[in-house]
Amino acid sequence: MWDRACDILYADMKEVTFNTWIKVPLTPLGIKEDVFYLSAATEMYQQIVTSRYIGNISEALTQVAERDVRAEILSPAQAKDYHEGAVESQRIIDNANLNPKYTFETFVVGNNNRLAHAASLAVAELPGGDFNPLFIYGGAGLGKTHLMHAIGHYALEENPNLRVRYVTTEVFTNEMIAAIQSRTMAEFRNKYRNIDILLVDDIQFLAGRDGTQEEFFHTFNALHSAGRQVVVTSDKSPKEIQKMDERLISRLEWGMVADIAKPDEETRFEILRRKTVSGGIRIEESVLHKIAQKVSSNIRELEGCLTRLIAYSNLTGKVIDDQLAEEALRDIFQSNEPRHVTCDDVITAVAGYYNVKVEEIKGPRRNREITVPRQIAMFLCREMVDVSLEVIGHRFNRDHSTVMHACQKVVSEKEQSPSLASLIRDLTKQLQERT
Ligand code: ADP
Ligand code: MG
Repeated sequence: MWDRACDILYADMKEVTFNTWIKVPLTPLGIKEDVFYLSAATEMYQQIVTSRYIGNISEALTQVAERDVRAEILSPAQAKDYHEGAVESQRIIDNANLNPKYTFETFVVGNNNRLAHAASLAVAELPGGDFNPLFIYGGAGLGKTHLMHAIGHYALEENPNLRVRYVTTEVFTNEMIAAIQSRTMAEFRNKYRNIDILLVDDIQFLAGRDGTQEEFFHTFNALHSAGRQVVVTSDKSPKEIQKMDERLISRLEWGMVADIAKPDEETRFEILRRKTVSGGIRIEESVLHKIAQKVSSNIRELEGCLTRLIAYSNLTGKVIDDQLAEEALRDIFQSNEPRHVTCDDVITAVAGYYNVKVEEIKGPRRNREITVPRQIAMFLCREMVDVSLEVIGHRFNRDHSTVMHACQKVVSEKEQSPSLASLIRDLTKQLQERT
């Protein structure tokens, strides 16, 4: 409602006025009967906006609601009181340690994250069901933490009595060490074993920490055997995490393992579009297309571009158009990202090395002369090409689990065989130089 009111206000005001007095300092709190509450950033804003713009704001809101609505601007202190009403649900979210922005509603589903999203939703709907534990993995800034919080929010909305707790691996580790030092392990265990949904972020940081792994292993077992849900994220698949207890790895694979890949251009555009709509920001689609085209590495960077554009526009008082985008994002737009390696590049290189035909690698034969290069090619695609397991599988006429298997096999064999490791290094180098 506030977004639409902003559209009306924006049309009636100079851009700089709108930004200075409406968009930047005001945050909508909610509507009670016919009063729409907004909070101002400071008392000064409250006074000035109330004296100058309360009429315009009320009118815009009335127009949107198609009934009489009166705006009321609250100071930060008043806003706090206003929130006390919503305190109970806020308290639950705080206890669970969830970020209110990371929900399913704000998560854009694309080909890169479809499986991880579906699995997360299934877990949120039925914690402790088939997908227990849920293991989500993928590169930095691709939405793992977001999905994890979304599970927590959704489950709490369905059942506010659930005990949900989000924790980073780092915090888990630090709390455990502190508990050992202060001899309060019993409390620590109690805290982590009386939970309905435990969300542990970035589990790869347990690598090499035997004591914490051991403790987490017991926590996991206690929760899992009691039918409680465990969700973990990592930057690698379970098998790819080095220096991790085998027993723990096998547990982590018990339930559902889902990967998130880098988003394609269409998904990147959609993420940008959704962010501008929810933020009430006006940006031409052509600008968004351009950003989506240029920034492909991760979503955090995409968001960074938007933030920069908005700041630039606020500072200069200019509208966000192609020209402003060129100025604000010059360094990003001009960087010549190297051409990316494709699956076919990889397959061709591996086929050349082993002196087999590309069609054979993609074909059905399963004799060792072909399966070894095929598995290595799959592994290299996984390492070097920004696409999901499913897409890789497709290039090989196989499914994603075959690719996952191949990658795991190569990873473990590489450990045992220095010659294989060096071969993979050579092929990687060769492919990088080619692009
Ligand atoms: P990770 O934990 O994988 O490093 P995050 O979950 O922290 O990544 O995501 C980085 C940022 O990108 C967050 O602000 C998040 O809201 C946003 N983001 C990631 N994926 C999506 C998506 N599919 N839709 C909308 N926003 C996303
Ligand atoms: Mg994260």
